[in-house]
Amino acid sequence: MTKKISILGSTGSIGVNTLNVIDTLQDQFDIVYLSTFQNKELIIEQAKKYQPKSVVIVDDSHAEDIQNALEKENIEILFGRDGLLEISKRDDVDLVMNGLVGSAGMEPTINSLKAGVDVALSNKESMVMAGDLINNIILESGAKIYPVDSEHSAIWQCLVGENIKDIKRIILTGSGGPFRTRDINTFSEISLKEALNHPNWSMGNKITIDSATMMNKGLEVIEARWLFNLEIDQIDILIHPQSIIHSMVEFNDRSIKAQLGIPDMKIPIQYALTYPSHSLAEWDELDLAKIGKLTFEEKDIEKFPCIELAYESLRIGGSAPAVLNVANDNAVYSFLNKRIKFTDIPNIIEKACNAHDLVLQPSLEELLELELWTYEFVMKEVNKK
Ligand code: MG
Repeated sequence: MTKKISILGSTGSIGVNTLNVIDTLQDQFDIVYLSTFQNKELIIEQAKKYQPKSVVIVDDSHAEDIQNALEKENIEILFGRDGLLEISKRDDVDLVMNGLVGSAGMEPTINSLKAGVDVALSNKESMVMAGDLINNIILESGAKIYPVDSEHSAIWQCLVGENIKDIKRIILTGSGGPFRTRDINTFSEISLKEALNHPNWSMGNKITIDSATMMNKGLEVIEARWLFNLEIDQIDILIHPQSIIHSMVEFNDRSIKAQLGIPDMKIPIQYALTYPSHSLAEWDELDLAKIGKLTFEEKDIEKFPCIELAYESLRIGGSAPAVLNVANDNAVYSFLNKRIKFTDIPNIIEKACNAHDLVLQPSLEELLELELWTYEFVMKEVNKK
């Protein structure tokens, strides 16, 4: 039977990899919706190839070009943020792949889960901002979340057949990013080019900067807390520069399970698409003899204060992780636009977290208001630089 799938962010790194995986899984998927922020060339090409029911382009300045290019196709074209929210509410699909970037991904996740549609979730920011709210929605609608983030996919795979009560802790592994061994005194001179050069993973720009500041690992701690219903002190970070072990679970008897693989996002993407089966794939095998050594280190919170900011927001709870996340999004976009320095990123996030009025159990409306407040707060700070 074919699975009907919607791909949000189909022209980004996760979206393109998802389509590559689907190409190899012959006839198992029917692509119903595709969306892009502004990559008109690629969305036109994808629309012609996959013939979805609808496509969305969020940046509507390209509206006319897309309409002209797809004139002869029988494809509905939707525009703007409203178009994206509209397709995320539709329940005529079996699975939504959410490959959107940043806090913009939260509301579509909520819409799909509310509609009872399962979500393959690459957009970790959804769980960071609204984990508690989302878990309540799932309880009501019965929809499921399949983690795509490689660490959370690893933990999910380690937990097959296990009882959540038997978990002592989980160990999220991280490569340490491009600045693991760099002298802390030179961090304020880090250039955009250096920060975009990740040693192991090929990903979009936003998450690559998050990996360089290690906020990515902090966000993953918060994501894991809600995905697996764990306490904060059950979630640890371990630096593992080779990125071969994607994460581990330690059980009460001190037995540890780990999931290993080459660092390629197509593996967790395929598992989320084909769960519970591990389908045959063409990519390289993991050659451990060739790799030789797997090494491990403690995390360095002096070099990477974002890790501690993330843990702290989780300890505070309520709306604190949401503000942390939106502040991070906008600080990272400002760094990508060369408006601030690398070391300004954690400073601005900390200021935003300290300045905001905590809401204990934020509703969707309150989260959206906080998103706007945090954006304005961060941009004021950026303008001072
Ligand atoms: Mg990850």
